[in-house]
Amino acid sequence: MPNMSLTKVPVPEQEPQVRNHNFKEVCLGYTAEQAMEEAGRCLHCKNQPCVAGCPVNIHIPDFIAKVAEGDFKAAYEIISDTNALPSVSGRVCPQESQCEARCVRGIKGEPVAIGRLERFVADWHMAQKQAPAQKPEPNGHKVAVIGSGPSGLTCAGELAKKGYSVTVFEALHVAGGVLVYGIPEFRLPKTIVQKEIEGLKELGVDVECNMVIGKTLSIDELFERGYEAVYIGSGAGLPRFMGIPGENLKGVYSANEFLTRVNLMKAYRSDSATPIQHARKVAVVGGGNVAMDAARCARRLGAEEVSIVYRRSAAELPARAEEVEHAHEEGIAFHFLTNPTAVLEGEQGWARGLKCVRMELGEPDASGRRRPVEVEGSEFELEADCIIIAIGTSPNPLIKDTTQGLETQRWGGIIADEDTGHTSREHVYAGGDAVTGAATVILAMGAGKAAAKAIDQELGATS
Ligand code: FAD
Ligand code: SF4
Ligand code: SF4
Repeated sequence: MPNMSLTKVPVPEQEPQVRNHNFKEVCLGYTAEQAMEEAGRCLHCKNQPCVAGCPVNIHIPDFIAKVAEGDFKAAYEIISDTNALPSVSGRVCPQESQCEARCVRGIKGEPVAIGRLERFVADWHMAQKQAPAQKPEPNGHKVAVIGSGPSGLTCAGELAKKGYSVTVFEALHVAGGVLVYGIPEFRLPKTIVQKEIEGLKELGVDVECNMVIGKTLSIDELFERGYEAVYIGSGAGLPRFMGIPGENLKGVYSANEFLTRVNLMKAYRSDSATPIQHARKVAVVGGGNVAMDAARCARRLGAEEVSIVYRRSAAELPARAEEVEHAHEEGIAFHFLTNPTAVLEGEQGWARGLKCVRMELGEPDASGRRRPVEVEGSEFELEADCIIIAIGTSPNPLIKDTTQGLETQRWGGIIADEDTGHTSREHVYAGGDAVTGAATVILAMGAGKAAAKAIDQELGATS
């Protein structure tokens, strides 16, 4: 008999007034008992609508059935059959618009907590003592992967399992991409990412950091060094700015810089060599996950007032619902239908706030969302000594500019086949944010996996 509760089993979390002073993980995860109780809510639907909502088609009802039985090992095996980083996706996937959005239990009440169950199983597995992964028999083929984000890591792992000699070239001094430099510790502890990377190294994947492809080595030089295929998973890390007066004043950050200082360089710790401004009033411009993360980090750094400035309404916020809710709970203020027109200059070249106008929603634009239109005569000033711009990112043009025959979109995304990731350049594949622009972890992983399959087919090693 299924558990017919209309609501999810609540998950333990740090209290908002405690967690907004620390960088420890907010969500503490289910216990085994809680996971089994929640798993009991699944109806094991024959047509499995939830599976179609998952970009990597995890066999959701099958793994949940194993959780309900208490057979967590079997549950992990089912998940890891299609998902290489479940401890990551279980934490950061936008479940509410993917698997859980299709769950029939969501028609009357809350959907099954698929993401929380996935995280529970992945964490359970990680906590078990594990023998080091067996290195597969080498198949004599060499593949280079550019970028160590979720896309590059997934591609590398899939190929290493088939016996390929894989080298991941990473521009930064630490591997993990946005998982380490963007998403904060309180949403995704870095030890989890490091454990996943250690697992890949045990499989034989070689990770070379401080290697900027397009500068340290070109793609042509990778082929000269004997790599037979190259996968580009270089992400979309180039921040966009608004192009308004005053954006180059002191105290104005791109969200990328701000988050890198906090997450990668641990600027919040007293022993960190990287400085960060400890501001009193912070305004974050944007409404996505990046904006929420920046605002929540600023709060944890001690800012008294942190506000999100977003030009549309609450209904259009692109950030995950959970992130928005957590931001509200932590005391972040929201200025909706507000658009900055200039950064105001204070003393000695420091920003002192934003000049803003009020907006109203007009006709839908190309994205289908109603276009914000300025309300005449609605100018006002918003005081802030730190301003963080989180209005999006694009792929860095470095690889495109140094690789002949690699076609890109006008906005910089690499053009690649949707199913295989093959680009316009022979033996060169691409996927993740470098192709789609800023998207999600699970889509980046799916692209890495698809490209690994295509590379294996091209090189013919295991076929
Ligand atoms: P990335 O993770 O960007 O990794 C690319 C890597 O390539 C980087 O390490 C970069 O240093 C390296 N690189 C770049 N150029 C070169 C070069 N020339 N040579 C060598 N290496 C290079 N998604 C979600 O699903 N849920 C979330 O909650 C979520 N929150 C987010 C919060 C923030 C702050 C940010 C920034 C993004 C968030 N995302 C979220 C989006 C998600 O993180 C990305 O879609 C995903 O990381 C893309 O993976 P990727 O492997 O394509 O690229
Ligand atoms: Fe849901 Fe994401 Fe897990 Fe797929 S990977 S089942 S979409 S949480
Ligand atoms: Fe279970 Fe929901 Fe999937 Fe049905 S749709 S199998 S109830 S998780």
